[in-house]
Amino acid sequence: MSEFDIIRCYFKEKAHQNAAVRVGIGDDAAVLHVEPETELVVATDTLVAGVHFPLNTSPFDIGYKSLAVNLSDLAAMGATPQWMTLALTLPRADEDWLDKFSQGLLSLAEQFNVSLVGGDTTQGPLTISVQIGGVVEKGKALLRSGAQADDLILVTGTLGNAARGLALLQQSSKTIPAEYLTCLNRPVPRVAAGQILLKHATACIDISDGLYRDLSHIAEASGVGAVINVDDIPLSKQLQVDELTLSEKYRLALGGGDDYELCFTIREESLPLVETTMAAINTPCCVIGKMTLANGVKLHSIETSEIIVDTLGYEHFT
Ligand code: ADP
Ligand code: MG
Repeated sequence: MSEFDIIRCYFKEKAHQNAAVRVGIGDDAAVLHVEPETELVVATDTLVAGVHFPLNTSPFDIGYKSLAVNLSDLAAMGATPQWMTLALTLPRADEDWLDKFSQGLLSLAEQFNVSLVGGDTTQGPLTISVQIGGVVEKGKALLRSGAQADDLILVTGTLGNAARGLALLQQSSKTIPAEYLTCLNRPVPRVAAGQILLKHATACIDISDGLYRDLSHIAEASGVGAVINVDDIPLSKQLQVDELTLSEKYRLALGGGDDYELCFTIREESLPLVETTMAAINTPCCVIGKMTLANGVKLHSIETSEIIVDTLGYEHFT
């Protein structure tokens, strides 16, 4: 299969088109419609085989996740996703792999009304780079920088499942609960929640590198600090009954990456409305702490003590 056959067969013919696309795959560049009074919100995330996913991850899941992580970035900005480009580097043209990869990618794209509008296809070590674009009303995007002292800190969903799943995979564990693997390989981006938060949140981030690190980004960007009540961090039922100690569970929730939940701050008086609107879209969320005047992110816990903060969170090049 030539590069052009791959593009036509697995991407051009299967890609769905929405109203923002004037020219999609096939020309030198895509031409996209932008409504007046809106701003473009653009993000890129790259997945490298063996770094961002284990080598034996299914091609469907690789396709799914390479878009899901990008959708999660737009969710954190409160943006409505519209289009994406795909830079795909493949060791070889394996048709079965491509078929499943494109199914994983494009089924999620269709679910979120995202059009694949272009990309690049090259040979080399397996690497998937998706760029995503979306829109938000002018001046309204959710940023990391708006949190103030005394704002409440909330997270959606539960934390730690993905990191637990990855740890079990790395230990070649025989029986890994399906819930962990679903969280690791098929995270559900909180796009609808992000849009609701446009009205309420003072700051927002998606949790890709662990709650501790990502909340630190909000604190730094906002010029304030935070206290996390560790005992209030939501753990899934599965993680609650896991054989790990409670400290180990909270360590995963604070430091493990790949959850793709939203962490956001609100004024205290917004809480009742946030709770009811999030409940209306079936997105669980709960308060886990408060922003503070003093800088830095501190952990407070009655039930667990020995969580080592310095080693929390994933970072490349260290
Ligand atoms: P050029 O040489 O002008 O950069 P290419 O030959 O690389 O163009 O690509 C031809 C068309 O196919 C372009 O519209 C490009 O955006 C699109 N394309 C290439 N690779 C992919 C891909 N993996 N997924 C989607 N579109 C792709
Ligand atoms: Mg060209």
